[in-house]
Amino acid sequence: MQIPNPFEAAVELGRVLAAAANGDRIIVSKDTAKLRTKVCSLCPRRDTGSNQCMECSCWLPLAVHVATKKCPLGKWPVTNA
Ligand code: SF4
Repeated sequence: MQIPNPFEAAVELGRVLAAAANGDRIIVSKDTAKLRTKVCSLCPRRDTGSNQCMECSCWLPLAVHVATKKCPLGKWPVTNA
């Protein structure tokens, strides 16, 4: 298991808080989360043991739901609906 970079985690939290303050969506729909999960399940950069992304160290069962989060390799669909 990789420990997430605290700076990147703080930046991501800042994005979520900014989105919430603007009244923007902070959680994606179930369909988008399912699609993201499917993409990650096929990705060689997913650690199957910890279910983390080895590019950004995010824990994927949580990350796929966060609207401000992006796949570091651009593999997720563009929509965050
Ligand atoms: S977030 Fe992107 S790079 Fe990371 S495991 Fe998922 S598809 Fe792969």
